[in-house]
This record gives sequence, C-alpha cells and structure tokens, in this order.
Amino acid sequence: MSLPAAATQSCAHVECAHPALERVLTLATVITFIRTGASVVLAMLGAYQGSLPLLLWGLAVYWVGDTADGAVARLTHCETRIGAALDIMCDRLCAAVFYVGFAWYDPSMAVPVGIYLVEFMVIDLFLSMSFLAWPLSSPNYFYLVDRQLWLWNWSKPGKALNSALFAVFMVWTRNPWLAGVIATSLLAVKVTSMVRLSRLGLPIPGGCLRPVHQVQTTT
Ligand SMILES: [Zn+2]
Repeated sequence: MSLPAAATQSCAHVECAHPALERVLTLATVITFIRTGASVVLAMLGAYQGSLPLLLWGLAVYWVGDTADGAVARLTHCETRIGAALDIMCDRLCAAVFYVGFAWYDPSMAVPVGIYLVEFMVIDLFLSMSFLAWPLSSPNYFYLVDRQLWLWNWSKPGKALNSALFAVFMVWTRNPWLAGVIATSLLAVKVTSMVRLSRLGLPIPGGCLRPVHQVQTTT
C-alpha cells in the first residue's frame, strides 16, 4: 500500500511515519474522542446504577469505536502517530472505567480485574507506545521491527486475544479463578514481550540538545 506522493517526503509507505501528515484533528481522532466520551459515560452510568446492560454498552462502544477509528484512519490516509498514541491512551481510559465499574458491580471480580489492569494499563501501554521509537505510523506495522512481538501483541488475533478473551470469559462465566488465570496468562505474554523488547533495545534519537559551550561551562 502507498500514500499519495504529495503527502510524503522520502517514501510513500503507509507503514512509515510522515511528518507532513501529523495533526491532532483528523476524522479518525474525532471518532476516537467521540467513542471514548460515549463509552466512559455509558460505563460510568452503568456502575452508578448497578446496570450490567449499561456497562456492556460502554464496552461495546469502546470495541466497535476502536475498530471504526482504525478503519477510517486507513481508508482516509490519516494514520498519524498522534492518532495512534491518542487511540492507545483512550483505550486505557475506556478499559479502566469499564473494568473498575464491573468490579464495583461484581466485587468477586476485583482480583482478576486488578491483574488485568496491571497488564493493560502499565505493561501493554509501554509496549504499545514503543512504536514511537521507530519511524512507524502505528504499532499495526511493528512486524517491520520484530515479527514475533507484532504477532503476540498487534496482529489481528493478538489484539483480539488481548482485549476480548478476558472480558468475554469474565462477563460470561463470572468465575474469578478462570478470569484470574486468563488475566495472569495475558500478563505473562506481556512480560515476555517486555523482555524481548528490552533485548531488542529502544532506539534513541541521536544528537545533543545543548550547545557545546553550555556543556563545557557547566561541567
Ligand atoms: Zn517507507
């Protein structure tokens, strides 16, 4: 796949980041903001009213909206690093409100939800933002850096397992042990991914931010 030539500088790959395309407001980020606001309001109302249907509506808007913003970004050639980063952060907010709301609704799920939140809000957040260390437009193209990490985390099956498996089994079975085993397994996959990422090493942009004379006078 390639982008319109005028939009890019060095190459026209959709996988590569293009500074000229970067902006906060695109059709995709507007969808991200709207679906996040709607999901948070629905899940919070669900928690407040003790309503499982409202909580599940919050989760559904998050998942459908998360698929829609990505699809719109690809179709309209506005896959920006800003949009990808905002999408990743908005996903954490939607997930946090739904899962904490669900644990409030059914306190027997508090421990598995806690394990899942450690996995998703901290380790998966770090993994997902690591694409910024390479000139990529989103983690969806991480296979250009490392195919194994991409398969585990950002391929279609990888993403589906990471987000859907835990929620579906938790809501469906209400078995804290089963939900705990799934959350712990996901945590193990993410910790293994972190080890692999740290062995790979995160590139740091070269250069020095301070003028030479400044460094000399302060050392
Ligand atoms: Zn390229």
